[in-house]
Amino acid sequence: MNKIAVAGTGYVGLVAGVCFAEVGHQVTCVDIDENKVRLMESGVSPIYEADLEELMQKNYAAGRLHYTTDYKSAYKDADAIFIGVGTPEQPDGSANLSYIATVARQIAETVEKDCLVVVKSTVPVGTNDKVEKFIKDFLVNDVKVEVASNPEFLAQGSAVHDTLHAARIIIGTESKWAEEMLRKIYEPFNLPIVSVSRRSAEMIKYASNDFLALKISYMNDIANLCELVGADIQDVAKGMSYDERIGAKFLNAGIGYGGSCFPKDTKALEYLARQHGYELRTIKAAIDVNKDQKTMLYKKACRRLITFSGLKVAILGLTFKPGTDDLREAPSLENIPLLLDAGADIYAYDPVGIENFKKKYSEGKNGQGSIKYVESVEEALKDANVCFIFTEWGEIKAVKPEQYKKLMRTALVYDGRNIYDVEAMFKAGVEYYSIGRPYMK
Ligand code: NAD
Repeated sequence: MNKIAVAGTGYVGLVAGVCFAEVGHQVTCVDIDENKVRLMESGVSPIYEADLEELMQKNYAAGRLHYTTDYKSAYKDADAIFIGVGTPEQPDGSANLSYIATVARQIAETVEKDCLVVVKSTVPVGTNDKVEKFIKDFLVNDVKVEVASNPEFLAQGSAVHDTLHAARIIIGTESKWAEEMLRKIYEPFNLPIVSVSRRSAEMIKYASNDFLALKISYMNDIANLCELVGADIQDVAKGMSYDERIGAKFLNAGIGYGGSCFPKDTKALEYLARQHGYELRTIKAAIDVNKDQKTMLYKKACRRLITFSGLKVAILGLTFKPGTDDLREAPSLENIPLLLDAGADIYAYDPVGIENFKKKYSEGKNGQGSIKYVESVEEALKDANVCFIFTEWGEIKAVKPEQYKKLMRTALVYDGRNIYDVEAMFKAGVEYYSIGRPYMK
């Protein structure tokens, strides 16, 4: 078994570290955030992911998993150092590689034996080459350091399951030594391994994510047309899904993709193409459609209502998708400022996202409007004039159409996730607008 260090304990780094320990490796997870490290040492996960805490506690107790802010002790004698720090979007759309550079420098200054540095973070094509050169430039000891690409494909909300049962492991290496080392590390997972060059591995990650983003934007584009011509996007998607060339997944129309990956990875690939004098028209279209899609329901509601000022607005769901506490690029973050500017009194419910949302919008008066965070769907809906559904949490899907009619002052619902049957809402007396489906009156 190998001695592994993981830099960064976010969704990718922590889950990777825990899963490496679960299959028997000796793992030290490194983060600069002392609070996170303290929390993890006490058995608590700093992020919300199914099964994660249980595996953290199990492997910590077994002595296979450690947490530290002291990167020197973790890197100096590791066989492999996985980098899972953030690569956030910069204002021009490019990926910010400063966190990667910091870790690369820390590795160069501390490694005392030959080691493989594995970049798990999503980075533009060519970054692994640069990281390797950068480490060699700053290397303090006379040791061999090679860099490999091993992009991550987990989805937040099912990250542990996706790691232990990944459809494939992509490894991008430039030597047999690096390839063999990664094959050995991943052997206990017993998963298909696709071995390619570093640059191809980096491109596989962007091409995969951007294809999925494109698929979502395509369905949203078709959904918007469905509304105009009287077709139903859910029936259309169902009909399409039987074609194996299309597949049944990622055909749900909605309020647009969010999260930490699709928005930034589409922009980063488009930026990379531009840098090389190429216009990536398909991805540009995906980005444009998504931008408009996020505020589609707000604009619809503006056409229906005279004003939001003084209205009680119920918001169901704040996170970018169910199963996560992550708010990055969530549709709620686009719509809530618009509603507040318009004077709405918001009553927001989310089963896990409220604490993170409070860091952005504290409770009480906000601009022209106000926000109150509530602990149940019922509290949010009680006497509301209008309701927006932004996340399809199980707790929200469980609300029956009749409850909207019974609890709200005006049963007016804008559903960004197409949770309900249009006819069922109509029969319950709810004025119901969704995405790409006919409105019944
Ligand atoms: P994150 O922001 O949740 O976590 C990054 C962590 O790195 C933070 O805890 C931060 O404190 C830590 N960090 C920063 N500098 C450090 C340093 N010098 N040493 C040690 N730790 C340091 O990020 P994430 O969502 O896990 O994403 C990480 C990368 O993986 C990104 O490139 C992302 O695009 C990619 N990715 C993310 C997902 C996802 O679903 N979140 C999926 C696949 C790939």
